[in-house]
Formats: sequence, C-alpha cells, structure tokens
Amino acid sequence: MRAAVLYGAGDVRVENVPDARLIEPTDALVAVSRACICGSDLWPYKLMQPGEPPRRMGHEAIGVVEAVGSGVRTLKVGDVVVMPFAYSDGTCAFCHEGLHTSCVHGGFFGTVELPGAQAEALRIPLADGTLFALPVGADDALMASLLTLSDVMGTGHHAARAAKVGRGRTAAVIGDGAVGLCAVIAARRLGAERIIMMGHHPDRIALAKEFGATDVVKERGEEAVARVRALAGGLGVQSVLECVGTEEAMRTAIGIARAGGAIGRVGVPHYEAIPGSEPAFYNNLTIAGGPAPVRAYIQELLPDVLEGKIEPGRVFDRVIGLDDVPDGYRAMNEREAIKVMVKP
Ligand SMILES: [Zn+2]
Repeated sequence: MRAAVLYGAGDVRVENVPDARLIEPTDALVAVSRACICGSDLWPYKLMQPGEPPRRMGHEAIGVVEAVGSGVRTLKVGDVVVMPFAYSDGTCAFCHEGLHTSCVHGGFFGTVELPGAQAEALRIPLADGTLFALPVGADDALMASLLTLSDVMGTGHHAARAAKVGRGRTAAVIGDGAVGLCAVIAARRLGAERIIMMGHHPDRIALAKEFGATDVVKERGEEAVARVRALAGGLGVQSVLECVGTEEAMRTAIGIARAGGAIGRVGVPHYEAIPGSEPAFYNNLTIAGGPAPVRAYIQELLPDVLEGKIEPGRVFDRVIGLDDVPDGYRAMNEREAIKVMVKP
C-alpha cells in the first residue's frame, strides 16, 4: 500500500510500504476515506533533525472498517468511523474521566511507534475505545466537517473549555490556522459574547468572521496586546484561546488576559518554560490546556455537525490525492493553504 513517510526537514515522500494488518486481537484495520495534514505535522516537517528515524505521518482520518480482531466487541466490518489523533482503551481511570489523551494504555498516531493516517490504510490499536462509529455513509456530504472531529474541531473546543468560555464572556483567539478557526466556532458555540481573532491572513480572517469572530486584531507583539486590551474595555479578555504554541503566543496570551481570566493552550508548546510568570501570578490567571481528548468530545459535537449548526469542514481549502501529499505539506508550510484534505 501507499503511505506518506517523513525522512527529514522538508522531505516527505509517498512510498510503497508493507500493507497495514491486524496484530493484536483488539485491533481494527481501517481503509482511509479521508485524511488530512495538520498544523502540528509542520513542526517535524520544519524541524526534524538528521539521524531521527523516518516517521509515517498523519493522525486525522475517517475511514471504513475492513477487518476487526477477535477481541473487538463494538465495531464491525463496513462501519464508517472517525479516528481521534490518540488511541485509547476507553476503560482506564483517565478515559472514564474524559481525558483519553492520558489513557494508561494509549498513544498517538503518526509517531515513530505507530504508523499514521496519510496512507491507504492503517492499524488501529484498542479499536473499541479509540474509534467512533458514525451514523453516515462513507460519501456523506458532511464528510469534511466530520473529519475535523478527529482533531481540529475537538482541539478548538478544548481550547474554549480550558479558557472557561461561557455565555456573555469575552474571548480572544491567538492563531488563524485551522485550530484557531475552529476555536472561534467553539467559543461562539459556548456563548462568548465578543470573540477577537488575532491573525493577519485575509482569507483566514474572512472565514473567522463567518464563524463568529466579532473583532480582528492584525497587529503583533506589544501593539497587538494594547489593541486587544483597548477593545476589551482596557481590562483585557476573560478567555484566551492559545492555538499556536510559541513562546511569543503565550506571552501575548498572558498580556491580553483580564485579571482572573483563563488561558486555554492547545498549540503544541515549542518552548521550555511558560513566560510571564509574574504577570500571570499577580493577575490570578488560570493557565490550562494540553492535547485535546477529542474522543470525549465527539459525542457532544457530532449532533451540531449533523444538524449543520457548525461547519468546521470549511477550514479545508484544498483537496489532494495521496501522491500529492508532499506538495500539500509545502502549501500548508508556505501558508498557501489553511488545511489540506487527502483522499487516498
Ligand atoms: Zn484509557
């Protein structure tokens, strides 16, 4: 079968690899109907060091179950399933608490340990706990939005929850990538009265406004902080959704947060220590967030997707075949595309 393999910075190739197959009795084999390229895939794409082992990429997919192991109880061949970016048993203490990304038997797709979803098929460990069977056919018109439940929509929702977004509150979203745009959807869905999008790409800003952003701040750094604070009556915003993962983004988040406010961070951090310890302390800020337990959120978000109340699939602005995955990485890295969908 064909799959995308990352060999080094800027070097992703589509190759013939051994067919995915069942290994454990609790595995399922899924034929990928739709996958995508994630903003977080761009970190290794940019920064992979010589000597690091090759990596089969991709952690977001919708597919059709092709085979199940003898220990799989809830899934059957032919089921259309969404695959969260992390696998989980669904039974441990953390899974019961809705924190599937901390599952004691879990892990992540698209790593050196477990091949990813930018492929024709993949093996799903702990299939009963991991996969979510969808009440749709494999070619449903809502497929793009359903695909976002494997990561970006759930991640945006997690940012909003961690930032304590609620009815009547002010929110700011840092980052105009697919997660930031989904964070706008999530903030609106949870009742934020004012949603300030911080970004500067015209196409992304336009989409953010359609998703519910009430204000846009294009400045960066100190200027951006001043502008957001001014928009929020001089006191700052109650909820900050940090969807980038850089030190500068966290510094901005702490700078724009209102005293007593909360920051929900979902951008994979690429810095050692959280900056702004002093202002965060004196302003009584809550800093929360991490990898989103998207498996736990599918149940909550799915009805809104099926009813068309939210349309997170609009973040996909390019659809490619598997052989074009290298160009898909390039396009996202150069910010030519917001998010690329892959149809193997
Ligand atoms: Zn678990």
